[in-house]
Amino acid sequence: MLGVEGNNYAFGVGSAVQGIPALHPYTKALLSAIPIPDPVVEAKRQRIILSGDVPSPMRPPPGCVFHTRCPIASDAHGCRTVVPEWRNVGTSRNEHWVACHRV
Ligand code: SF4
Repeated sequence: MLGVEGNNYAFGVGSAVQGIPALHPYTKALLSAIPIPDPVVEAKRQRIILSGDVPSPMRPPPGCVFHTRCPIASDAHGCRTVVPEWRNVGTSRNEHWVACHRV
């Protein structure tokens, strides 16, 4: 199985569809918006509402392109200055690639 989460948000969706636990903050927010067809579980669902400005794709911000809306962006981790590299946080058999300084 392969999970990929990072700056290409479409990959985050792919990861969620495969049933792999979300690690990237954007993927977590995306998944929190999906209604759950169980009224009991749905009543307890906590949505992650992103605030901040959506960056222009023509002039992306430095560092992680998600940092203007990321709820856990951190100067200490370099979110605003260093582009996060892809890292396999899974195993060789079950790869899970994430581009985030805090995962
Ligand atoms: S690298 Fe930083 S800003 Fe980007 S998703 Fe991870 S924690 Fe958020």
